[in-house]
Amino acid sequence: MADLQQQLDEAEARVDQIKRQMAAASCAQVGHRWKHIGGRNCGCDDGWCSLPVHECTACGDCDYGENAEAEKTRAECAERKGRTDA
Ligand SMILES: [Zn+2]
Ligand SMILES: [Zn+2]
Repeated sequence: MADLQQQLDEAEARVDQIKRQMAAASCAQVGHRWKHIGGRNCGCDDGWCSLPVHECTACGDCDYGENAEAEKTRAECAERKGRTDA
């Protein structure tokens, strides 16, 4: 019986692995399905702006705030900083 249980565990682990590979492969083809999961600090000294962070609903990958909207926010931060320094 233990043998069968072990075989089942191994088979299930393999299925999980294949499912993750399929999710990753479909992301490579059609792109990640990003979902907004929160925000992170932009890194400003005054630190009041937040960058959106997304997680892929298919493969669970996270962009850690590396996206177009975050880039725009960081550019605005830099601009604001330039103004206050001047
Ligand atoms: Zn993905
Ligand atoms: Zn900022």
